[in-house]
Amino acid sequence: MTILFNDQLTERNDVTIDIEDRGYQFGDGIYEVIRVYNGKAFYLEEHIKRLVRSANELRIALPYHEDRLTSLLEELVTRNQLIEGNIYLQVSRGVAPRSHPFPEHSKAVIIGYTFDAPRPLSLLEKGVATILTEDIRWLRCDIKSLNLLGAVLAKQEAVEASCQEAILHRNGTVTEGSSTNVAIIKEGILYTHPANNLILHGITRNVILELARELGIPVREEAPTKEELFVADEVFITSTTMEIAPVISIDGKTIGSGTPGPLTRQLQEAFEAKIPS
Ligand code: PLP
Repeated sequence: MTILFNDQLTERNDVTIDIEDRGYQFGDGIYEVIRVYNGKAFYLEEHIKRLVRSANELRIALPYHEDRLTSLLEELVTRNQLIEGNIYLQVSRGVAPRSHPFPEHSKAVIIGYTFDAPRPLSLLEKGVATILTEDIRWLRCDIKSLNLLGAVLAKQEAVEASCQEAILHRNGTVTEGSSTNVAIIKEGILYTHPANNLILHGITRNVILELARELGIPVREEAPTKEELFVADEVFITSTTMEIAPVISIDGKTIGSGTPGPLTRQLQEAFEAKIPS
C-alpha cells in the first residue's frame, strides 16, 4: 500500500515512526478524515482549510504549502486505486526528546493513508441508536486534535450499550456526538449547537446547514438542552463517514415515531445528490 510520509508517496512497510514523535507521546498533533466517493476526495479543500486552521491554532508549522498537500493526497488516492473509502491524514509537531514545551528544532511529521469503506447504507436507512453522556472533553473541541480520549470513552460507553453513537451534553446543553455533529428538528425548525470552541466545526454540518437553507428549512444555531433532545420531532447526526444518520433512540427512549423523520429524509436526499457518481 502506498502512503504519504512527509512529502513523499512511499510504501507503508518502508516507513517507521520515531518513539519520540510528539503525536505518539503527547497527542501533540492534528488530523482529518476525508471521504472518497467514486475516486474523488469529497470537500477536500474544506478539509485542508480546517487542517491549516487546526495547525495555526496549535502553532504547528506545516512544512509545505497546502496546494502541494492537496495534490499529494489526490495522487495517493489514484495510486491506491481507491474508489469508495477514506483518507486518514495526520500531522504531529514532530520528533524531539520528551519534554512538554514546544521543541526548538522539530519538523512536523505528516502521514496519510487510504482505506476502503462502503457507505453506511443500512444505518442511513434504519437510523442509529444512541446514548446521552456527559461531555468531559477539553474546551477547544474546535481544534481537530489527536487527543481523543474523551471521545474514545464516550464511544466505548455507546458500544457497551449496543448503540452506534454517544451524544454529549455539557451541563445539560447538547454539544455534539463523540465523532459527529448533532441536530434536532422541532416544529419544522433545525437547531444545532453554534460553531464555537465547544464543538468541531463539522464539514458535513456546514453542508447540511446550507442544504437546509436551500430547502427552506429554518436553521437556528442554538444548542438544544437534554430535555429538548428527548422531545424533538427528529434528531440526526452528521459526519464525513456517517453522512446524515437519523437517530431513532437515545438511552432506549424512542425519538419521534422511532423511524427516520421526513426532514431528515429530505436532507439525506439533497446530500445524496451532491455525491459524485
Ligand atoms: N464532531 C466530532 C467530535 C468529530 O470527531 C467529527 C468527525 O470526525 C465530526 C463532528 C464531524 O465532522 P465532519 O463532518 O467534518 O466529518
